[in-house]
Amino acid sequence: MNQVLRGLVNNNQGCRNDYVMHRIQYIIQYSIAYTIARKCDISIKKVFKKYHAELIYSYMNDRGKAKTIRLALYPSFKRDKTFFPQWNNKIKKTVEYKYRDTNPLKRNCYICGNPQHHVMFHRKRISSLHMPYSNIIKEMIRINRRQICLCRECFIKVSQNLLEFNQITKRKLT
Ligand SMILES: [Zn+2]
Repeated sequence: MNQVLRGLVNNNQGCRNDYVMHRIQYIIQYSIAYTIARKCDISIKKVFKKYHAELIYSYMNDRGKAKTIRLALYPSFKRDKTFFPQWNNKIKKTVEYKYRDTNPLKRNCYICGNPQHHVMFHRKRISSLHMPYSNIIKEMIRINRRQICLCRECFIKVSQNLLEFNQITKRKLT
């Protein structure tokens, strides 16, 4: 019963109709109380007097060990005012990308390290490329990339193959 109650309550935490949970707890509590009342042939009032609201029940288990069970009543079903704000804050926090690869345009220019005005330079499949390769294509093949993040200046330069191969490969890490 406690598992059922806990499961129901935990699942519904933060829900608008949490007060309904109070009702459900009440139903569970009373259904147990009624069962006891019928079994012992006593009134509900007496059940709660004898076993308290939590319906504490002591018994011996199979191994002769004394056990006590009680209904794990939730004392309050007031809406947890911190529940939604907490989640809200978590959602609003800016996410630090561990793998910056997920957003290639956030990276610096591959050649000069310029952190702004990024464009993607794409290359065709190797089978569709014609020799001789431009220097940027050579480099992209070397690092096995189909696209590379560049600033606008470098993009124009490499498009016209104005940069030497070693100017491209000596990337400036910032
Ligand atoms: Zn650049």
